[in-house]
Amino acid sequence: MLTAETATDWLHRFAEKINENKAYLSELDSAIGDGDHGSNMARGVAAMEEKLAAGGFATVQDVLKTAAMALLGKVGGASGPLYGSALIAMAKQAGENEQDVAAIVKAGLEGIQKRGKAEKGEKTMVDVWMPACEALASGSLTKEVIQSAVEATKEMKATKGRASYLGERSIGHLDPGAVSSSYLFEALLEGGI
Ligand code: ADP
Ligand code: MG
Ligand code: MG
Repeated sequence: MLTAETATDWLHRFAEKINENKAYLSELDSAIGDGDHGSNMARGVAAMEEKLAAGGFATVQDVLKTAAMALLGKVGGASGPLYGSALIAMAKQAGENEQDVAAIVKAGLEGIQKRGKAEKGEKTMVDVWMPACEALASGSLTKEVIQSAVEATKEMKATKGRASYLGERSIGHLDPGAVSSSYLFEALLEGGI
């Protein structure tokens, strides 16, 4: 069940995974981008952790809004505004119904697409958010679903973001934002939410 407390724990686990995989995320981004995705995300989750540590959040909406502002202010790059938009939209949806995790994540995906205009198959974080969203709606989100969504980005050709400059040469590499997004959904699963 999503509560202010479990939402905070969810984001803590996400931050932990980002920190553990900071070098890996930047390495992935070195192959098809500018090599900063790990440091961008680590900087953002550090700011998020600092804000969340204050505690005393009454609602899921408060938690998500606080996280959104921290990420928006600190991640930078293309991914900062995208994660920020996702979390702002999720916070708004949580204000409507904080129990419906599938609807909250769907709002997050819509926020990302509204901001970044990426569709399915363009080798971006959308390629993890979309299948995760669909699986959540049918109660079938598993680690395997998340992993296969990440793996599927390998054979895609990037047509959005920095990786699109590489055209065909982007094929054969995982998308870094898809990998960082997979940590968010793994953290959700691990929390039993
Ligand atoms: P930058 O490319 O500015 O250095 P990052 O390296 O932090 O920013 O983030 C790159 C990630 O952002 C990509 O791996 C991709 O998942 C995501 N991304 C880029 N553009 C878009 C977009 N238009 N829609 C969705 N995700 C995007
Ligand atoms: Mg980058
Ligand atoms: Mg950059």
